[in-house]
Amino acid sequence: MTIQLEDATQVLRENHYKITKQRKAMLSYLIDQADCKYIPVTSIDQFMRQSFPNMSHNTIYRNIAEFTELGIVEKSVQGEQAAVKFQCDFKHEHHHHFVCQNCGKVRELPECPLGVDVQTELSGCEISAHSFTVYGTCEDCLHAQQLKE
Ligand SMILES: [Zn+2]
Ligand SMILES: [Zn+2]
Ligand SMILES: [Zn+2]
Repeated sequence: MTIQLEDATQVLRENHYKITKQRKAMLSYLIDQADCKYIPVTSIDQFMRQSFPNMSHNTIYRNIAEFTELGIVEKSVQGEQAAVKFQCDFKHEHHHHFVCQNCGKVRELPECPLGVDVQTELSGCEISAHSFTVYGTCEDCLHAQQLKE
């Protein structure tokens, strides 16, 4: 078992969820994605239906929602399309991402840019969440482009 899968099953156990073979298969599928990419929820659904034809769409979507709630996966909504990826870092659950717009690779940014200014600006309000993502082209893609030129 990979360390990532162990981390995830640990979270499930702590929250009294059963480690079913369906849940394990879904987690392995997400872990196996190269370079930490976001996977459209519809692709996960398709994969699960192929592996477990008796599993309903409802159950699959419910599992994805549970994983998101537990912080095992990270969610992103791009347009109409919801996508999830396996958690980058179970120790620093709050972090941000750099996303390559060319290959879709995601890199973790451990520093949070939310500064004291924002808190001051919003004094009197209660902040419940924030999001911050940096987009661009990763080193590998830049390098590949340079080779072509
Ligand atoms: Zn992440
Ligand atoms: Zn890239
Ligand atoms: Zn932050």
